[in-house]
Amino acid sequence: MTAQLIDGNALSAQLRGDVARRAQALRAQGITPGLAVVLVGDNPASQVYVRNKVKACQDNGLHSVLEKYDSSMTEEQLLARVESLNQDPKIHGILVQLPLPSHIDAQKVIEAISPAKDVDGFHIASAGALMTGMPGFWPCTPYGCMKMLESIGYELRGKHAVVIGRSNIVGKPMALMLLQKDATVTICHSRTKDLKAQTLQADVIVAAVGQPNVLTADMVKPGAVVLDVGMNRNGEGKLCGDVDFAGVRQVAGYITPVPGGVGPMTITMLLINTLQAAERSA
Ligand code: NAP
Repeated sequence: MTAQLIDGNALSAQLRGDVARRAQALRAQGITPGLAVVLVGDNPASQVYVRNKVKACQDNGLHSVLEKYDSSMTEEQLLARVESLNQDPKIHGILVQLPLPSHIDAQKVIEAISPAKDVDGFHIASAGALMTGMPGFWPCTPYGCMKMLESIGYELRGKHAVVIGRSNIVGKPMALMLLQKDATVTICHSRTKDLKAQTLQADVIVAAVGQPNVLTADMVKPGAVVLDVGMNRNGEGKLCGDVDFAGVRQVAGYITPVPGGVGPMTITMLLINTLQAAERSA
């Protein structure tokens, strides 16, 4: 079997077309959806991420503000900036790019963002809303994975999903979203005794670890859907995921590539969350 690709670029293009139309409809009512992106310090990867987020806003009719601060910015100063963005009627979504310099308590900053503008979905109120099935913003990366499953018409009810990774931004919310769609969910992590025994049971596997080749072909049930969240550099410095793509695609039913899989979906879901924040405020 050769797995079918779930193309994150193509799906993103389709969804962003819808974002652009919804943004235009809001602009016609006098509301331009606005995202503020705050970057503290000069982490090179973060600089690329924020640039891509701002460009995606501009390309799809959203207003965006990029605020860059020196790594010497204090926690107090950052909290004050967040508070002023909370009050700014032109800003519907606030994103503080992580990681923050070590002298700033990232959780404290996230909790300072108004839940109504928490388009990253990292605020404890957003996490609680997801946990209890209430309306709220879903973290963009797992939300993008759910959209990918939806795009292939995959029925999760009664299926066994295995999520590898338990971070607050990917693994845990991913597991909750799958559970909400009636999948039976197993969460694996670095202390899981026999990862292969778990993944071999899975109809859906989400790999969110940050290590190349965590999932190899011998660990995958034929026909399973494999979503690769990982973003790593291989020995040659090329971008790769957590999944041995060449091997696993021979066994899986569907697979997401890296690059061109989950990555573009993350930014697309950020646009969708921002638009939703603006629509709610309207
Ligand atoms: P993280 O916070 O470092 O979490 C990694 C998780 O993997 C942890 O729960 C860890 O377990 C688990 N783990 C580590 N080694 C393992 C192993 N050998 N077997 C099973 N589980 C293992 O990372 P993250 O923020 O969730 O991100 C994960 C990956 O996704 C990274 O490559 C990141 O760059 C990527 N990412 C991509 C996007 C995107 O847009 N495509 C967005 C976000 C993240 P413990 O909890 O026991 O330590």
